Amino acid sequence: MNVDSLYQEIILDHYKRPHGAGLREPFEAEVHHVNPTCGDELTLRVHLDGNTVADVSYAAEGCSISQASTSVMYDLLIGKSIEDAMSVLDTFTELMQGKGQIEPDEDILEDGIAFAGVAKFPARIKCALLSWMAWKDAVVQAQSPPTTPTEENA
Ligand code: ZN
Repeated sequence: MNVDSLYQEIILDHYKRPHGAGLREPFEAEVHHVNPTCGDELTLRVHLDGNTVADVSYAAEGCSISQASTSVMYDLLIGKSIEDAMSVLDTFTELMQGKGQIEPDEDILEDGIAFAGVAKFPARIKCALLSWMAWKDAVVQAQSPPTTPTEENA
């Protein structure tokens, strides 16, 4: 089996049986991201336990790449510290922006290496990055202080 069909197999596998799919409680932030060029839609919730990514739950609609990418991301981020998870995100983003020239690091990206092939197709890069951008957005929201006035101002 050549590497392209192996990658395709991994993506199809996650698409057919997405890991961690569904919206769960508790969560600190929920975001809705869309990729209008392809029609992908994603609602994503993040649950942090202190500095740990305790859960990422989601409802995804759209192409196989966007949905498989969300499933792979779930596997990669759960249980990691926010810092480590952000570093995985950076590695994945680099791979996607590498125009297919970057050799993916399986130790860090696990099944995420399958998206190395996608990086050759500019139109699909947004599909693969949709969930990661949504996750980052949700974590920022979960960490931002409440907007209600605090007693510090009193
Ligand atoms: Zn798509």
